[in-house]
Amino acid sequence: MDAATVPCELCGASFARAAATYSTSGQLVCPACSAKTIIAGGADRAAASARSTRIGIIVSAALVVAVPSLMIAAGVGQYVSIGLIVLGGVLVVGGRAASRAADAGVRRGALFVALAGVAAIFLGIALRNVLGRR
Ligand SMILES: [Zn+2]
Repeated sequence: MDAATVPCELCGASFARAAATYSTSGQLVCPACSAKTIIAGGADRAAASARSTRIGIIVSAALVVAVPSLMIAAGVGQYVSIGLIVLGGVLVVGGRAASRAADAGVRRGALFVALAGVAAIFLGIALRNVLGRR
């Protein structure tokens, strides 16, 4: 083998030493494999952000359902309506930010979060009207 070329540790192809790059796991790889591992790393990050979006949706749903229920039960419903409107606003803003993500799964999650936010705002306004008429 020519001293100026090195074998890729992933695909075995010989390539110019000058073009050698190291993968995130420290392997000496050719430019093609380097590009592939970068893309794979991006997919991993997208999967991780999709997971965190799902967790965010579950936590948001729990907040929208559980917190107002507990507060109404505790007799502080007037704070619940304000809380719902504020929470809804936070969810809509968060959903809008997440809707610019590259991953389609994250964008779907973002739409759900934004819709939950709108629902929370309407719920808060409806609750205010109900409590106001009492
Ligand atoms: Zn390679």
